[in-house]
Amino acid sequence: MDTATDRAIEMFDLPHLGQDPAHTYRLGIMGGTFDPIHNGHLVAAEQAYDDLGLDLVVFMPAGNPAFKQDKRVTSGEDRYAMTLLATSDNPHFTASRFEIDRDGVTYTADTLRLLHGLYPDNVAFFFITGADAIADIVTWRDAGDIARLAHLVAATRPGYDLSYARRVIEGSAYDFDVTYLEVPALAISSTDLRERAELGQSLRYLTPDSVIGYIRKHGLYDVGDAFQAPMQRDRAKMELTSDERD
Ligand code: NAP
Repeated sequence: MDTATDRAIEMFDLPHLGQDPAHTYRLGIMGGTFDPIHNGHLVAAEQAYDDLGLDLVVFMPAGNPAFKQDKRVTSGEDRYAMTLLATSDNPHFTASRFEIDRDGVTYTADTLRLLHGLYPDNVAFFFITGADAIADIVTWRDAGDIARLAHLVAATRPGYDLSYARRVIEGSAYDFDVTYLEVPALAISSTDLRERAELGQSLRYLTPDSVIGYIRKHGLYDVGDAFQAPMQRDRAKMELTSDERD
């Protein structure tokens, strides 16, 4: 690898991989909005790591997600920070800024092309995401490139009806290579966590405590005032006092 490539890899918190030309490395790319990350994502990635014999799983929070232009999404910095906290104690995982630091709408095909440019040919990519998202993949920009550049891993909760996703993938003009992974912990969803946070309900055991702490400290998802850190409540009170003074 040349030094410019090394620098790019380090800048985006990506792992160095591919040093031994006689070995094929298997790199998982865990793609998701992670708004917020939860234990379902962590269990799914660990299961993919084990079942598919991956060398590492890189959690890559989506930058400016293509299909969420009309939706309210928490800032990339906050989603990245929560992802970093959630993955920091697992040596199989790492978190990368690769997508959140890119300007404009982030397309998976661009991400995979850029990754291929950074790594030698003996690194194979496994793009892991939710089965709902995989079922839509044929409509994504440059879907043929995605099929060429990565193996796909579709994570589902038990009981999820895969027939639609399978039909779409099999009927597609592209040669997708998909592994379906059933993950009981995917009964947890980010939508549910956001709703629970808003209602002031407990997030305990649904996402790591460090993520819960981050959500409360930064007042994400309109968490009830009771959950705000004392510092933040004090700041709000001080702002009120100074407004009243004006
Ligand atoms: P989404 O539509 O918000 O999620 C669809 C379903 O998949 C939800 O149930 C979601 O649950 C689940 N899910 C999402 N990521 C997951 C993961 N890594 N592991 C397990 N379940 C997951 O999907 P999204 O988060 O926006 O996008 C997923 C990935 O596809 C991202 O990397 C995104 O950039 C990519 N994408 C690319 C394009 C494109 O290139 N045109 C278009 C759409 C998506 P939770 O809400 O609980 O996560």
